[in-house]
Amino acid sequence: MELLCAALAKIRLERQRAGVQARCTDGSGPLPRAWRDARGRLWWKAQSLGLDAPGNDLELFDWCRRPLGSWPVPLSLTEGDLDVVLLEGDALSEFAEQAADLIQHADVEAELVQNQVFAALMLCARMNGKDDDAVQRVYCRLRRLLIDHPVLSDREVQALARELPAADSDHDSFLAKFVRIAYVHHPVQAPGKVRLRRCADCRNPVDDGAVGCGAPGCTGVPEQYEVACLGAYWTQHRATRQFFHDPGLLEGRLLDHLGEIADGTLCVEDWPCLDAWDMALTFKAREPGAEAERWAVDAKDCSSPALLARGFRCDPRVPARRHIIVIPMHRLRTPGYVADLERELQGRVSGVEVLDEQTFLRQATVRARQAGGTR
Ligand SMILES: [Zn+2]
Repeated sequence: MELLCAALAKIRLERQRAGVQARCTDGSGPLPRAWRDARGRLWWKAQSLGLDAPGNDLELFDWCRRPLGSWPVPLSLTEGDLDVVLLEGDALSEFAEQAADLIQHADVEAELVQNQVFAALMLCARMNGKDDDAVQRVYCRLRRLLIDHPVLSDREVQALARELPAADSDHDSFLAKFVRIAYVHHPVQAPGKVRLRRCADCRNPVDDGAVGCGAPGCTGVPEQYEVACLGAYWTQHRATRQFFHDPGLLEGRLLDHLGEIADGTLCVEDWPCLDAWDMALTFKAREPGAEAERWAVDAKDCSSPALLARGFRCDPRVPARRHIIVIPMHRLRTPGYVADLERELQGRVSGVEVLDEQTFLRQATVRARQAGGTR
């Protein structure tokens, strides 16, 4: 299903590039590999069930205009997805857009950059940390940088370079390599302040004339601001924004709130074991000698609960009493989102709870007070 959506999105992209209307039925031009893969998988499934597979590409395009629940070959989907179609006329449905967005085959370049950003971040952390704890600290520092700084001035980069000086034999620092991959360079004419527009909430750059930032669930309004730079500033590559910044907003909010309630009774680790989980909370034991309680937490801002569940792994490197997936409040506007997610998780992982952002923070606050005893 994801493959088909990715293929449809790719066909549309190619037709748009070719400057023609995004029509899928004329059969002109080669079809993308994902389309052939998806057709092949459907064929195998149909064979194994003794059913009819689509005879040709045109027939499969016709299937894409019918509700998924009515396809001759049954698909493994949640009940809410059975009524949706992939194509409304010749346009991609919202479901298809989201599925295509989530499967990374839809955007090979972004996937490549995502992997490169992650590798460069990891290398910079390893080369600047003299032991495991220091590597972990630099890792968290850089992850947080990607959440808090969609735009960096060259002065900020220089300050960071003094903090993280490790360089290769050509005197090229690992921080510089990381910034060059994760961000796009914008030279300026003369030293001074550059006026830019950004979202007041998530700080993503906003184009002139645009009303919002486009980050999922963000309701921030655009504002003017100034970046003081010597000769250039940097903005995040769109893949950095898509894979690190925008999904990281929820992680950043949770870590900020937890930081406010953390004291002697609650210890918060961000991205423990170099991102085995997004965070680990340890609540001090009430009585001396008793065991502290740990929660392992992943913050997930994902449009499809089915695809979130398919990609979720319960990493055993952080032993914990509770394993929690936290979803942002704006996902609750999708009817049945939590129930669908819980059902999809069943059989894949056990003992994983799903909580919305507010419920999670409330529970963490209450638990921290209990650990404190008298507060
Ligand atoms: Zn925003």
